[in-house]
Amino acid sequence: MEKRLKIAIQKSGRLSDSSKALLKECGIQIKNGKNNLMAPAVNFPIDILYLRDDDIPQYVEDGTADLGILGENVVAETDKNIITAKKLGFAKCRLSLAVPKSDDYNSLLFFQNKKIATSYPVILSSFLKKNNIDAEIHKISGSVEIAPNIGLADAVCDIVSSGSTLFSNGLKEVEVILQSEAVVVANTNLDEEQTKIFEQLMFRIDAVKSAKKNKYILLNAPNSAIPSITNILPGIKSPTILPLAEEGWSSLHSVVNEEQFWNIIDELKVAGAEGILVIPIEKMIS
Ligand code: ATP
Ligand code: ZN
Repeated sequence: MEKRLKIAIQKSGRLSDSSKALLKECGIQIKNGKNNLMAPAVNFPIDILYLRDDDIPQYVEDGTADLGILGENVVAETDKNIITAKKLGFAKCRLSLAVPKSDDYNSLLFFQNKKIATSYPVILSSFLKKNNIDAEIHKISGSVEIAPNIGLADAVCDIVSSGSTLFSNGLKEVEVILQSEAVVVANTNLDEEQTKIFEQLMFRIDAVKSAKKNKYILLNAPNSAIPSITNILPGIKSPTILPLAEEGWSSLHSVVNEEQFWNIIDELKVAGAEGILVIPIEKMIS
């Protein structure tokens, strides 16, 4: 029988839509059985396991799942023997220490002998130990940010993205302990056949990721401007140049990094570029 890989993703929550979308962009079609724990992909040798994100590291360590998609924060907190194989660029957040807005905060010494509420006791205690701070850790599993208001703790250690949740609970972020994003994790004992499927999947993920980072750019320019525009365009190779029907004009095509794009757009116009089109790329194989 053909070997298949089991990949665990979050059943419902902040990671689940992006995880499913990523597999879809990789051309993988999942049979949607409603509320099933497991669903097979129809055109790629993987099966999807839907789990709570906190359970994924254990399942991947013991081989119940071969791969998983989850946040680095949970990978660090659960501290299992698994491989972090690839960063995925979504669900970016950080684990931070926050204190009441009205408190004076100067240094980590603030936390000496204080009570800190968190859902991340493992990461927090190792951070405090490394910094020689003695503090009491209160583990709570949800709504950590209300702990100081109800007198349960002096401070919190919690996941932050914009900081608006902290702010609306009267807290300010004072130290970042860990930066996190979604990653692919893998079991340490994949056999040869499983490794092949794993590598195929990583290849597809890379193609999807680099396509997202890049744009296809088309523009028109008088032939005299081609040398200076070619210099500005940081394409993978030199741009494609096609003659326009209008005498003395050409169309230039290239690939540019999304971040670079905003930096070069003014230069392109000054150099004589017109009718600039920027188009998303679906897949990019390098
Ligand atoms: P589960 O029911 O699966 O245990 P959960 O409540 O623990 O879900 P979610 O709130 O869905 O988890 O968050 C899942 C992951 O998304 C977090 O572990 C973190 O990596 C990331 N995350 C959490 N909060 C944010 C945020 N505000 N912005 C971006 N990413 C976040
Ligand atoms: Zn969770």
